[in-house]
Amino acid sequence: MSKRKVQPSIESALKATKKEVEKLKPAIKKLKQEVNKVVNSNEDLDNVRVSTTNSGTDEVHTGRVRSLKEGNGSRKGPILYWMSRDQRSRDNWALLHAVQEAKRSGVAVAVVFNLVDSFLNAQARHFGFMLRGLRIVEKNLQAADIPFFLFRGKAQETIPEFVEECGASMVVMDFSPLRIGRVWRDELCKNVSPAVAVHEVDAHNVVPVWEASPKLEYGARTIRTKIHKLLPEYLTDFPVLKNSGHVWSGPTPPPIDWEALITEVLSSHCCLDLTKLSVISGISVGAEVPEIDWCEPGEDAAIEHLLGDKNGFLTKRLAKYEFRNDPTKLGSLSSISPYLHYGQIAPQRAALEARRRQKEAPKNIDSFFEELVVRRELADNYCYYQPNYDNINGAWEWAQISLKAHAKDKREFVYTQEQLEKGKTHDSLWNAAQLEMVHYGKMHGFMRMYWAKKILEWTESPEEALRIAIYLNDKYEMDGRDPNGYVGCMWSICGIHDQGWKERPVFGKIRYMNLAGCKRKFNVDGYISYVDRLVSSLRKKAKSSAPTEAAPRSSKFF
Ligand SMILES: Cc1cc2nc3c(=O)[nH]c(=O)nc-3n(C[C@H](O)[C@H](O)[C@H](O)COP(=O)(O)OP(=O)(O)OC[C@H]3O[C@@H](n4cnc5c(N)ncnc54)[C@H](O)[C@@H]3O)c2cc1C
Repeated sequence: MSKRKVQPSIESALKATKKEVEKLKPAIKKLKQEVNKVVNSNEDLDNVRVSTTNSGTDEVHTGRVRSLKEGNGSRKGPILYWMSRDQRSRDNWALLHAVQEAKRSGVAVAVVFNLVDSFLNAQARHFGFMLRGLRIVEKNLQAADIPFFLFRGKAQETIPEFVEECGASMVVMDFSPLRIGRVWRDELCKNVSPAVAVHEVDAHNVVPVWEASPKLEYGARTIRTKIHKLLPEYLTDFPVLKNSGHVWSGPTPPPIDWEALITEVLSSHCCLDLTKLSVISGISVGAEVPEIDWCEPGEDAAIEHLLGDKNGFLTKRLAKYEFRNDPTKLGSLSSISPYLHYGQIAPQRAALEARRRQKEAPKNIDSFFEELVVRRELADNYCYYQPNYDNINGAWEWAQISLKAHAKDKREFVYTQEQLEKGKTHDSLWNAAQLEMVHYGKMHGFMRMYWAKKILEWTESPEEALRIAIYLNDKYEMDGRDPNGYVGCMWSICGIHDQGWKERPVFGKIRYMNLAGCKRKFNVDGYISYVDRLVSSLRKKAKSSAPTEAAPRSSKFF
C-alpha cells in the first residue's frame, strides 16, 4: 500500500473522531462537574467528621482569650478545661487553647463538665438532649486520649475541689454573656488557690464579643461592619484536636453510666407521677416536657445536620432558605439552633462551610450568614453589655417611655399564663404557634415574632408579657435559655434593636404585627392545619408508647 493512498483515509478518520470528541465535550464537562461535586462534598464531610482540616494557623487567636486570674506560677500541674456552653470536642477554641497551654507547659489536659440539677427552667427535653450530646463528647475525647470528668453539684465548688485534687495549674473556661454563667465564673475564680490561673475563651462567637465591640450596640446596622471588618482575622479554619502529648496522671475518670444518669435526671422533670417516666426508642416519655425525636443529639449528628448527604442544610436544603419566612414551607430553615445553643456545633464551622458554598446560592448564603453571625452575635453583645437583658429596664428610653404611657390602655383580650400556655386564645394562628413550640420543641422563626407581640397585646402589662414570653420560650423551645431568646423577646415586646413606629394603643411605638399581615405573607390556614396534624401525630405517638409499667429501654442514639 502506498503512503499517498493511506493518508487521506487516516486524515478523514481523524477528522471524524475529532468531531465526535467535540460533540462529547459538553457531556464530559458535565460529568466532571458532577464527579467533583460528589468528591468535594464527601471530602468536606470527612474532613469535619474525622478531624478538622487546617488551612489556618494552629495557634488560638489571642483576642479570643482573656485572663480572669493570673496564677502565681508555683504550680506545674495539669490544665483543666471546664466545658459549659461549648459542648463539643471538635472545632472548640476553648479546648484548643487548653491543649495549647498544656503543651507549652509540658503537662496533660483534661475536660470537666458540671451537671446542675436545675438550669433556667430547663426540662427533660433539654437535659436529655444535653446529656446525650455529652455522651458523644466523652467518646470523641477518649479517641483523642483526653480524659473527661462529669461532676454534679455547684461548679464553683466541684471544680475548685478537683483543681486541688489533681494539682491543676490552670482552668480554661467557656464564655457566656448570661448572668448565671458570670456568677459561676466569678465564684470559681475566688474559690481556686492563688496558684491557679483562670482563662476565659469565647468559643461561641466567630468574632469574640469583646473584640467585636467595646459597647452596647444599637442594632444590626451598627455592629455589622464591625464584625465584617474582623472576619478575615477570626473566620479561620480550625486546627486538628490532639492531646498535649503528656499523659494524664491524675485520678482516673469514674465510668459514667449514661443511661442510668439520663433516666434519673429526666425522672426529676416528670410531671406528677415519677414512676411514669420511661425511655422508649431512646427518648423520654412521660415527662412534663418530653424529649423530641426530630433532632438527634450530639456533635456528630450536628455536622450531619449541616453537611450530611441525606438532608444536610448546606448540602441539600440551601435552595429552600429563600422561603424561610413562610412557616408552611417545611424544611426551609436550617433548624440548626438547638445544636448552636448547646455548643454541639461551632457557629464558626457553620460560617466557614457556608462561605465555601457562597457561589452555589449567593443570596441564601448571605442571608444565612447574616442570621448566624451578625444577628446571633448581636444578641451576645446585648446580653453582655446590658445587665437588664431580660427585663423592661433593658429597653431604650424611648421604648420604656412609650410602653409606660400605654401600660393602662384597655386590652381587648386579657389571658392568664395558663390560658396562653395551653394555647387557649381566640386566635387559632397564635394557638398553633404555641402548640408547635410545646409539642415539637421549635416554633417557626417568623411565628416567634407574632407570638411574642400578641402576648404584649393580651396581657396586663409589658412586664407581665415579657415574663410570660421568656417563661414559655425557656420552658419549651429546644434552643431556649439563650441570648437569642432574651433578645427575641426583648425585640418583640420592648423594641430593642428596632426603631420606633407609628404610635398605637397598648404597643405605643413598638412595632405591631397582626393576623391580616400574616395572611398576606403566607397560607395561615395551611400552617394551622399543619400544626394540628403534627400535634395529633405526636400525641398519638406519645400515647402508643406511654408505659404502663417500666418499659424496656432501647438506645436510638447510643
Ligand atoms: C420571640 C422570639 C424568641 C426567640 N427565641 C429564640 C431562642 O430561644 N433561641 C434562639 O436561638 N433563637 C431564638 N429566636 C431567634 C430566631 O427565631 C431563631 O434563632 C431561629 O428561629 C432558629 O431557627 P433556625 O436555626 O432554623 O434559624 P435560621 O434562620 O436557619 O438561622 C440560623 C441561625 O442564625 C441565628 N438566628 C436566626 N435568626 C436570628 C435572630 N432573629 N436573632 C438572633 N439569631 C438568629 C440562630 O442562631 C439560628 O440558629 C427568637 C426570636 C423571637 C422573635
